[in-house]
Amino acid sequence: MEMRCPGSSGVLRPTIELLPCPKCGKDVEIFTDETKAECECGGVVYRDLSSCVQWCSFAEKCVGEEKLKELKKK
Ligand SMILES: [Zn+2]
Repeated sequence: MEMRCPGSSGVLRPTIELLPCPKCGKDVEIFTDETKAECECGGVVYRDLSSCVQWCSFAEKCVGEEKLKELKKK
């Protein structure tokens, strides 16, 4: 079995996650490969997606060179 860190699995196989809006508390749908989503009230939900990718020395092998560049840009 291939080992991957939990931070990258959402990047490679995006799924929808529900995070509470900081403004109204309503659940906002956010894809696991996205770093933020906007609630209908105008509040923005942030997801700490790239945290492990930023420092992990295996990030390039983990998510791929292209995806890593994309994530570091954000
Ligand atoms: Zn909201």
